[in-house]
Amino acid sequence: MTKSTFKRIDGRAPDEFRKPIEAKVGIIPNADGSAMYRSGETVAIAAVYGPKKMHPQHQQDPEKGTLRCDYNMLSFSVTERIRPGPSRRSTEISKIMEWALEPVLLIDSFSNMVVDVNVNIVQADAGTRCAAINAAAMALAHAGIPMKSIVSSIAAGKLDKTVVLDLNKYEDSEFEEGEGSTDIPMTFTPDGELTHIQLDGKISKEQLKEAIAMAREAAKEIYQVQMKALKEAGGENGDA
Ligand code: ADP
Repeated sequence: MTKSTFKRIDGRAPDEFRKPIEAKVGIIPNADGSAMYRSGETVAIAAVYGPKKMHPQHQQDPEKGTLRCDYNMLSFSVTERIRPGPSRRSTEISKIMEWALEPVLLIDSFSNMVVDVNVNIVQADAGTRCAAINAAAMALAHAGIPMKSIVSSIAAGKLDKTVVLDLNKYEDSEFEEGEGSTDIPMTFTPDGELTHIQLDGKISKEQLKEAIAMAREAAKEIYQVQMKALKEAGGENGDA
C-alpha cells in the first residue's frame, strides 16, 4: 500500500521482525515450568508455579482456577536504572498478560487454586509485553497446565502512514514524523484467532486490518519458534 519510500531507522522492511528471535524452555529448575523469549534486544524470562491453593484465601474462586500473572521490569533492563518494584505500568501489563493467556487455559476444574506466572524483563527495548506473553505461554505448557494451545504475541502498528511490524524502542517512543507512531500489541492462537489486542493511538479501519493481518502472519512464525523450543525441552504438551 504505502510501502514504497518509507525507511525504518534500522533498515528493516515494514513487515520484518527484529532479530534474533530466540526461545528456550526449562531454564529454572525450581519452577514447575519456565521459558525465555528474546526478540532483538528485548529478553523475557517466565516461571510458572502451581497449580496450588490460592493465597490469600479470600481470592479463592470455588467455581474455577485462577491465572495470576506478575510482570516485572528489572532495574538494569534499560540504560537508565529504573526504580525496582511494582508500578502502575507493571500492574497494567500483568493484567494484559492474564487477558491474553486466559482464553486458551483449561483450568476451570482447578477450583480454589492458582497458577502463578512470574515474568522478569531482563533487557527491554520495547515489545516487552509481547515477549512476556510468549515466554509465559511456553512456561505454562512446560508446567503441564492444560491448554487448548499456546499463544503467540507480536506488535504491529503505524509509522507516519506506513503499517509496520514489531516496533523498536525508538519507533515506539520517539518517532514523531508526520502522523507519528501507533503501536498495537496483539496475541493470537495458532489458528490465527486474536485473544487480545491493545489499541491506544490513531489508525484507520483499513490500516488496522492491514496491521492485524501482518501481525497474524508474524505470529505463525513465532509459534514455530516456541513449539521447537518446547519440543527440544522434552516434548511437553504445548499443543495438547
Ligand atoms: P512494551 O515494552 O510492552 O512496548 P511500553 O510501550 O510501556 O511497553 O514501553 C516501551 C519501552 O520503553 C520498554 O520496552 C522499555 O524499553 C522502555 N521503558 C518502559 N518503561 C520505562 C521506564 N520506566 N524507564 C525506562 N524505560 C522504560
